[in-house]
Amino acid sequence: MENKDIVLNGTDVYVIRTMANNEFGNSKPCENCIRILRQCQIYRVYYSVSNLENTELLYQVEKLTNIIPDHVSRGNKGLKRLNVIQRVPNF
Ligand SMILES: [Zn+2]
Repeated sequence: MENKDIVLNGTDVYVIRTMANNEFGNSKPCENCIRILRQCQIYRVYYSVSNLENTELLYQVEKLTNIIPDHVSRGNKGLKRLNVIQRVPNF
């Protein structure tokens, strides 16, 4: 079975980020992840957002057709700085 045989069309993705202090952090997918999720035809992404008021989980939900990429992940910034070519799987 090749990657292109995996059916993800219409699937929802859930992303949760926990911080070192056990609070939830912002886990909105970065521009690279959004591109890959769109290639996979993911329908919606649920992602945690920072909650400075208390430790309850707050989240956003956005359709991949509407989500606006607004950041590059720290990992991808490091790869660019090191001039590492990023490999994106073929779907
Ligand atoms: Zn990412």
